[in-house]
This record gives sequence, C-alpha cells and structure tokens, in this order.
Amino acid sequence: MQDYPKLNISTFASWSPSGDNPLIIAGPCAAESKEQVNNTARRLVENGGVHIFRAGLWKPRTSPNSFTGVGRVGLKWLKSVKKTYSIPIATEVMSAKQLLLAVDSDIDYVWIGARTSVNPYSMDEIAAAMENIDIPVFIKNPLTPDLSAWIGAIERINNAGINKIAVVHRGFQSVYSAPLRNEPIWNIPIKLKCLYPSMPIICDPSHITGNTKFIANIVNKAISLDVSGFMIEVHENPSAALTDEKQQLTPTELSVLLKKIDGFVSNSLSLHAQISNDEEYTQIDHLRALIDSFDENIIKTLSQRFEATKEIGEIKKKLNISALQVTRWQEVMKNRLEEGKKLGLSEQFTTNLMELIHDEALKSQE
Ligand code: PEP
Ligand code: MN
Repeated sequence: MQDYPKLNISTFASWSPSGDNPLIIAGPCAAESKEQVNNTARRLVENGGVHIFRAGLWKPRTSPNSFTGVGRVGLKWLKSVKKTYSIPIATEVMSAKQLLLAVDSDIDYVWIGARTSVNPYSMDEIAAAMENIDIPVFIKNPLTPDLSAWIGAIERINNAGINKIAVVHRGFQSVYSAPLRNEPIWNIPIKLKCLYPSMPIICDPSHITGNTKFIANIVNKAISLDVSGFMIEVHENPSAALTDEKQQLTPTELSVLLKKIDGFVSNSLSLHAQISNDEEYTQIDHLRALIDSFDENIIKTLSQRFEATKEIGEIKKKLNISALQVTRWQEVMKNRLEEGKKLGLSEQFTTNLMELIHDEALKSQE
C-alpha cells in the first residue's frame, strides 16, 4: 500500500462562509467587463444562496487566438463587487505573481486550476509564495486522473502553512468522457475522502459536464457522496460568454438548482438523523453484507484467474511464444462483452474491467 502524507487541514465549518451548510461558489467562468462582472454579481446576490463570488481573470486557453482573460484590471472589478454587495470573492491563480496581485487586491479565496495542479513546478512556485500569506485555497484536481499528483499539490500548499484547504473535483481529461466534457471518475475523490476524512470536497459540475443540460445529474450524484459544496459557473448572458458558453447557467437557472440542492441536502440530513432505527437502514445493512460477500468472491476468483494465467505464462516461455496473443485476446473481449451485455453491464464497464485484468495478466507473464 502506497504511503500518503499526513496533512493538517482545518475543519471546513471553522472557515467556510456557509458554516455547516453546503458552500456555494458561483460566478462567471471569466471576468469579461466591469458591467458583466457587476451585473452577474448583483443578480446572484439579489437571488441569494451564493456564499462566494468567483470569476477567472487569467484564462489558459487551448488556442493562443482565444480570449485569454482580462488580467489584473479585473481585480478592481472584483474588489468593487466585494464592496458593493458585501460578498467574498475568489479568483484563480496560476503563478506566484498572480497570487501576490490577488492578495494585494483583497481577494478572499484563491483556487488553483487543473492545468496548474498537474504541474509540480508551478505548485512549488505558488507554495513558496504562500509561505507568508494566510488565504484559504481551493485546489482543483489535476487534468490527469492521478490521485498522487492531486495529493502532491495539496501537500505543497499545506507545507507552506496553509490549513484552510478544500479540494474541487472538476473531472479528468479522458477519451471516455463523452457526453461529458471531463470524466468524473468518482472513485478518485472518494479515495481522497477515505484517506483524508476531514478534507472538504467541492464539486464543480460545470467543468465536469461542459454542458448545462447534465449539471443537475452530476449535482445529484455529488450530493449522494456527501460533498461539502459546489462551484458553479454562472453568466448574465451565457450564449454571449467569451469562454465556456455551453456550461454556464443564468442567475435564474442557478436559483432553481439551488432550491433542488437545498431540498436534497435537508432530506439527506434527516435521513442521517434516523440512521439507527429505520427499516430502510436495516435493508441497507443487509445489502451491504451481500456486497461484502460478492466482493470477497470477486477477489478470490481474480486470484484464481491470475494463478491460471501465470501457469500459462510458464508454458508460453517454454514454447518461446509471446505473452500477448492478439487473436485470443480479441476473442476473449468479444465474448465477455456479449456476456456482460446479456447481464446488463455497460460496454464501457466491461471493456475497462477486462483491459485492467488483461494488463495484470500480461504483467504476470513477463
Ligand atoms: C475555471 O474554474 O474557470 C477553470 C479554468 O477550471 P479548471 O481548472 O477546472 O479547468
Ligand atoms: Mn470555465
């Protein structure tokens, strides 16, 4: 088992402006003009339910010809939002210089984006600049599905003396993400939560989905996993947005979503309260016992399967034939997909599972 670092994380309720309730961070993907920032913030504050206003000032883009953000001039607009509407503000920083500019402009929270957390060199630079600064930091998952890289980014910020840390799950770049923009790979944030139970996890359904029509679905899933809040992109006029136009909600659409979130959360809180004597909970206990025994069987069966592949490996060596036998592998995959389909397993799941098993089998035959 891999060794993970010890982290020193403050309890979320001790610093979150939402206290014990889910934290809602909302605002445009990018600050585009003073008016757009101000109008979006005004409407969010009027509607209520948002604890932190967000806007990106420096936007790393795929093409150098795309809008790359307004830069430091936007700091003034955010400061004015903070003063006019008494709402804390957050922006993304990608370098030590941007961090210092943000802190100088009284930004209350910063987040580190996926393109930065993936890069240990940038993380070192930002962490070094944080040594003398005390600001709560939201750390997005790296672009790649690599839990160790995410933990490495968190550890660097924590080592710089920052304890007010929350992570943001925004999905991972993947060829399997469609129809979503990024693949959620929920087991990565779940594993992070198991390793660090006090780590608040904020879900960013905007970047996971890339499209507003899937947001509610991802929000439901995140609530069932007991996340600590959401970061959601909202634009006063999404279709005219200069970045991420398909994934930004209008302020009104956000209000509708927040009502749903409230409903779900109070429901799940009252469910927790009845935990011991509810009939449904007894049922969950039974089902969990069943799952434990299924898992035990899966592990045993896999171990027996690998014993068999190892033996085949010895024979292949004697016969001097390669471990990978393409025709046999194609046949196995085809049959398993057919069997899986009959039993209601998705093609994607069976493919992933069989590829994982086959990789391990080949390793044992090297
Ligand atoms: C953002 O929040 O605007 C952003 C760029 O996010 P990510 O780093 O998750 O792509
Ligand atoms: Mn965005």
